[in-house]
Amino acid sequence: MAEEKTTVDMDTIVSLCKRRGFIFQSSEIYGGVGGSWDYGPFGVELKRNIKDVWWRDVVHRRDDIVGLDAGILMHPKVWEASGHVESFTDPLVDCKNCKKRFRADHVQDGVCPECGGELTESRLFNLMLKTFLGPVEDDASLTYLRPETAQGMFVNFANVLEASRRKLPFGIAQIGKAFRNEITPRNFTFRTREFEQMEIEYFVKPGTDEEWHQRWVEERFDWYLRYGMRKEYLRLRQHEGDELAHYSKATYDIEYLFPFGWAELEGISNRTDFDLRQHALFSGRELTYFDEETGTHIVPYIIEPSGGIDRAALAFLVDAYREEKVRKRKRVVLQLHPDLAPVKVAVLPLLRNRPELVDLAKELASDLRMHVTTAYDDTASIGRLYRRQDEIGTPFCVTVDVDSLEDHAVTIRARDSMDQVRVPIPEVRQTLLDGLGRG
Ligand code: ATP
Repeated sequence: MAEEKTTVDMDTIVSLCKRRGFIFQSSEIYGGVGGSWDYGPFGVELKRNIKDVWWRDVVHRRDDIVGLDAGILMHPKVWEASGHVESFTDPLVDCKNCKKRFRADHVQDGVCPECGGELTESRLFNLMLKTFLGPVEDDASLTYLRPETAQGMFVNFANVLEASRRKLPFGIAQIGKAFRNEITPRNFTFRTREFEQMEIEYFVKPGTDEEWHQRWVEERFDWYLRYGMRKEYLRLRQHEGDELAHYSKATYDIEYLFPFGWAELEGISNRTDFDLRQHALFSGRELTYFDEETGTHIVPYIIEPSGGIDRAALAFLVDAYREEKVRKRKRVVLQLHPDLAPVKVAVLPLLRNRPELVDLAKELASDLRMHVTTAYDDTASIGRLYRRQDEIGTPFCVTVDVDSLEDHAVTIRARDSMDQVRVPIPEVRQTLLDGLGRG
């Protein structure tokens, strides 16, 4: 892995996530389960926000992409046609001493990374999670939990085309869970057995595929920048010939410099006409597009930007993390983009034992709540309340103080600059919406 280091280490992020309610270990009271994580009150908001801005940007704000929500369970033949049954495998080695298993490409020097023991020869291990449909657990009822959302879009190509009357180029977008029986889940939520993907399958005329591939690589790279990721922590990496998946003509990975090194956030592949041809072959259905210009049926090529929401969430958290010294004390602040921040505004009364202040603050919070995600908190001193909001990345705090009862104004404090401005109560909502970029 790369030698460069980000400013925060993973332990700090993991403990912040637990302390503040972003991410918990799955089934923690039972000792946890490998490769599965639970998103707490703020984590679920962060993830939803990532999904919402992605959907807004790729579906609602474009005229050429429509959405889909396909089932996790699909016909078992899908996975034969896609090549997953045969080749969705990782090479696996066992340690003869401690019996632990590793991905062969994750170990160095042929010895066990845990105990230094001797390793077995590598053998292939299929990453799909098996399950059975119906009451009988035999081969006839065997299927898999989808390892990617993509296939749902390929098998619905003709349905979507007919229902939406699209012309090439057009795309289908989907967000959903995917499952992979990763041999060694690790690095917190980076590599898990259950995760969420945000994928686009963009259908283009053969011959225009390379140009569209480049356009999507740029578009997707810019998307991470648009939501605040630091450019120097992002890079593009093209797959080498021997690294390419069986369906791919060319693939670029968008990588982020995590505390554990550069690693993939999203892959953008030129899948050629492989998928539609395979499904046409296995299903016996025609999966073509009638090109009016040439009067012929063609099999579109597919450009696929495929990203992981959990990886994006982790990268946004790591990227936003700052430690500052303020009046000789450490301030931890998540400088999340306002669209991603779990809570947009926190309303805080300066004194919690003054009912008039509390009432005014609660009233203001309930008004704001109709417009943006708003928290109300009076459970600690103001300094502590600010620190809590900084740590979860809340862009604005609104403080109601004794003067507010007289001058009908409150103080708005900005997270990043810590600047404070006095604003008349009737103008608070608009001032905040402007500050959040929603004016
Ligand atoms: P890797 O090489 O890291 O295993 P991959 O190349 O197999 O990933 P893809 O099949 O391209 O991944 O999946 C598309 C996206 O789905 C990835 O860019 C990643 O963001 C996400 N993803 C894939 N596997 C996992 C996983 N085990 N845990 C979390 N996210 C994942």
